[in-house]
Amino acid sequence: MGMFDWYTPTPPLACPRCRSTLDGWQGKDGPCGLFEWVQGMPSPPRQHVDEECALPASDRERFRLPEHFQIYTECAQCRAWIEAEGSCEGDVWSRVELVDPLESLAVNGR
Ligand SMILES: [Zn+2]
Repeated sequence: MGMFDWYTPTPPLACPRCRSTLDGWQGKDGPCGLFEWVQGMPSPPRQHVDEECALPASDRERFRLPEHFQIYTECAQCRAWIEAEGSCEGDVWSRVELVDPLESLAVNGR
């Protein structure tokens, strides 16, 4: 298996610094099979590997995300490092929230 999975928040999230749309999310809390997880779907609809290495769809459909998981990406526009936390409801990825370092710094008064 690979090192991480790809994640697609739906609707997409915006960069907290420059407001451009973020993509290319990765995370290591899932099965790490280079799957692509899409918010709102119980199992990954795609696997980003060569066709001969890919699992058959019937096997892929058995994978689920953990109840809480971290994902991260880099803003293609302003290069900010962005982290977010996703969570599942009834085995389906239902929510995602930015872990916003800019905001938490302001709250801490630094
Ligand atoms: Zn940005």
